[in-house]
Amino acid sequence: MTSITNHMPTAELQKLDAAHHMHPFSTNTEIAEKGARVITKAKGVFLTDSEGVEILDAMAGLWCVNIGYGREELAEVAARQMRELPFYNTFFQTSHVPAIALAAKLAELAPGDLNHVFFGSGGSDANDTNLRMVRAYWAMKGQPDRNIVIARKNGYHGSSMGSGSLGGMSAIHSQGGLPIPDIHHINQPHWYAEGGDMSPEDFGLARAQELEAEILKHGEHRVAAFIGEPIQGAGGVIIPPETYWPEIQRICDKYGILLIADEVICGFGRTGNWFGSQTLDIRPDIMTVAKGLSSGYQPIGASIVSDKIASVVDNNEFNHGYTYSGHPVAAAVALENLRILEEENILGHVRETAAPYLAEKWQALTDHPLVGEARICGMMGSIALTPHKETRAKFAADEGTVGLICRTRCFANGLVMRHVGDRMIISPPLVISNGEIDTLITRARLSLDEALAEATDKGLMVAAS
Ligand SMILES: *Cc1c(COP(=O)(O)O)cnc(C)c1O
Repeated sequence: MTSITNHMPTAELQKLDAAHHMHPFSTNTEIAEKGARVITKAKGVFLTDSEGVEILDAMAGLWCVNIGYGREELAEVAARQMRELPFYNTFFQTSHVPAIALAAKLAELAPGDLNHVFFGSGGSDANDTNLRMVRAYWAMKGQPDRNIVIARKNGYHGSSMGSGSLGGMSAIHSQGGLPIPDIHHINQPHWYAEGGDMSPEDFGLARAQELEAEILKHGEHRVAAFIGEPIQGAGGVIIPPETYWPEIQRICDKYGILLIADEVICGFGRTGNWFGSQTLDIRPDIMTVAKGLSSGYQPIGASIVSDKIASVVDNNEFNHGYTYSGHPVAAAVALENLRILEEENILGHVRETAAPYLAEKWQALTDHPLVGEARICGMMGSIALTPHKETRAKFAADEGTVGLICRTRCFANGLVMRHVGDRMIISPPLVISNGEIDTLITRARLSLDEALAEATDKGLMVAAS
């Protein structure tokens, strides 16, 4: 297999990109001015751009390339499946082998009685499925008023009308008439930014108890479900205090409210177990999966649903589905990805080798003058940039100013590390070696040094009052 090396010159690609390609979550005129970075190929944990520059991808694409780039087996499976059966639908009482096999495999891997799979093409549409399914479930049980879903501020569940409403990002809610009705948001368990003088443990409990207050405010007969990411990803890799999830679980159990764990990032080894729910001791009624399900090689997502819910929903027609629900090529590729994760014991590699080594190096970044905290769980980590460590101070400058400086320095130094405001985040491929972790950390430190120098030069090392 050869890659496309004889592409048109970068400047020409950038010009066409600017003229015709509208990028997600971007100001397109800004991209047009600078020219998009064009990625042409990738292998293992490294990307190559159109100028031949190699970049260590510490974000695994968008949190998804868990097994790393360039696995021939997935290409082979996709080609074979395309030749045999490139498409068939799963509506109208038909099925096909890849969808059947993948559903059965997910039921085997998922904890508890999560034995039923509804497929989509990604995380957003899977969460839309969840929203409709939990409301339909309660209506089918004769409780149509139980339609409120409680979610969290600064959570991320996708950007469609339903999933963007479940998410708690003000930038998303400010466009297009979101959130849709009967979705309410409680505060996030983000101790570093919002915990004030409380201990993390007390703060975690207090934030979880907001769920109980919110339920009582509407009346428990009105609340269908709670949704949360075990660890918030796009919100800035926010690892909740240990007291948080047990209390959320207790409250959901007490009021009989369905718990949806959005595992789109945490699933498939990211936290060292198959699912983040296992790492954080959550017993969900539904799990949302996507991203690492296929390691990003094909667009596929799913809702994995409990016996309890399926036994109700399956007795009725659920008027919902996507043309590509259970797409045979995507499902076959996902199955092959799961085979590799399992047979190569990649979760073992995470638990025994990569995560402990990365944690040690990552947490040591707190000795850097720009870093206020460094946290990590499995293979997802974040650092908070601060002008003043002791008080966990924010910058006086607009949020994200220094974060963007740092991200730009990272890119220039051959490292993809994202910024969320003034937090820097990583989520590298799970197969990363200790040598590659050393490279990641060396480039991160160099970029932090340069970001500190630039921020100091620009007079940005000033705490917000
Ligand atoms: C990325 C993400 C989604 C949305 O998935 P898409 O495939 O982009 O639609 C949903 N939930 C979480 C937690 C995510 O990180």
